[in-house]
Amino acid sequence: MKVWLDGEVMDGAAARIPVIDHGFLYGDGVFEGMRIYSRRLFRLDDHMARIAAAARAVGITIPGGVESLRQVAIETARAHLQETGEDDAYLRLVVSRGDGGLGVDPTTCPVARIVCIADRARIYPPEKMQSGLSLVTSSWRRPPADVLDPRVKSLNYMNNALAKLEARRQGADDALLLNQAGNVAEASVANLFVVREGVLMTPPATDGALEGITRRTVLELAEAAGIPNAERTLGRFDLFAASEAFLTGSGAKVVPVRSLDGEPIGKGEPGPITLQLTEAFDRFARSSGTPIDS
Ligand code: PMP
Repeated sequence: MKVWLDGEVMDGAAARIPVIDHGFLYGDGVFEGMRIYSRRLFRLDDHMARIAAAARAVGITIPGGVESLRQVAIETARAHLQETGEDDAYLRLVVSRGDGGLGVDPTTCPVARIVCIADRARIYPPEKMQSGLSLVTSSWRRPPADVLDPRVKSLNYMNNALAKLEARRQGADDALLLNQAGNVAEASVANLFVVREGVLMTPPATDGALEGITRRTVLELAEAAGIPNAERTLGRFDLFAASEAFLTGSGAKVVPVRSLDGEPIGKGEPGPITLQLTEAFDRFARSSGTPIDS
């Protein structure tokens, strides 16, 4: 693991931040999770646009702007790949409010802190990536936008963590989160898709989901492959009526869902459209992206 902190790349074990960092004290900050496939940083521009918008939404000024974030991400990735001798990695880019007073007041934090972590990352075990995940409906709802906008990828992931904890304690792989209206938002840290009567559907982000970059890529790949697709409000019913379901995320990639609350989805195994899009995504991810060596 390699970490960029305070202007240098170091070993993960050596990286330390002060306890008065408001990211640590209050979850006050924003972040991105990114992937490197075949030494290329996947959709770097999209990640930069998203974190810039998130930072603006919460009033954080990124030191050096997104151009410095790009350089930090690439430099950290390069050091990590050199260390491991591998061509794939996961990157976590964090912009915290920075060091300040012990109180919550963000105006006590003069400079935001940039941290980038490069590591191997496996969100789900490989056998689950093949056979599919079991989901349970969480009793935690996604917060509405006027409480904590789920479109802001903030460091405040308590809602996500509690939903995941609840699912794991029930022996499931992940949680399905509904919004305040009882409609489907997403999984704990991934977007959700279903296939019904040949149509690929995912909820609009305004139903309580992050504007996922993997999600957008999958919609584009579906469009290019002639698979009918739509952003549509979904209920739990749509999962039970679906022939296929899957999750998408930078960490998760494209991963099939085989059951919800103990009920199989479709045949309870990865369906043909899921497999087609998984393959298309992998091919696209390995041939696009920003080369980290140039
Ligand atoms: N929703 C949430 C809550 C997430 O944390 C993530 C992971 N970033 C996603 C969806 C998937 O987004 P992306 O494809 O951009 O990683």
